[in-house]
Order: sequence, then structure tokens, then C-alpha cells
Amino acid sequence: MGMAGNTKSRTPCEAGTTEESQIMKRCTCGERPLVEEIQHNEDFSQYFVICDNCGSQSGTYNTAEFAIERWNVRIERMESKNDVCNR
Ligand SMILES: [Zn+2]
Repeated sequence: MGMAGNTKSRTPCEAGTTEESQIMKRCTCGERPLVEEIQHNEDFSQYFVICDNCGSQSGTYNTAEFAIERWNVRIERMESKNDVCNR
């Protein structure tokens, strides 16, 4: 904890801009995943990345950036696993 100190000041508009600027890896199934927002109340939203096609999803995090980052790590891991399997 402590990494998401400034989330409270972020407006939905700014969060949307961040989603656009952050590079999100395609799902291992080849589809583009979506960032979903869970709005708990006016001041507190959480985000997760989900693939509508195969149902893969990241964990739920306090910022969209972090959800995307974790999603990317997950995809990278799955990709490198596939490399090992193919050898
Ligand atoms: Zn997928």
C-alpha cells in the first residue's frame, strides 16, 4: 500500500486520458481488453482490465494505470511461458 496516494484527486476525465496513453497489451487470445471502472462512491473508484472474448482479467486496483500494468505483466508471463513450451 501507499503507492496510490493521489488517486482521490483524479477526475474520471483524467483517468480516461491515462487509459488512452498507456500501452495495453492485447490478450493472449488476440482481442483487445477493456478497462472497467467500479465506482464505489463519488471519491472512490477501482479499476480492472478484462477481455470480453475469453474472460481473462487482471486484479482490481485503485488506478487504471496500475490495473493495466498488472495486466501487461500477466500477458508477458503467459507469452514467455508459451515460448518455453514451444522449444
Ligand atoms: Zn482474451
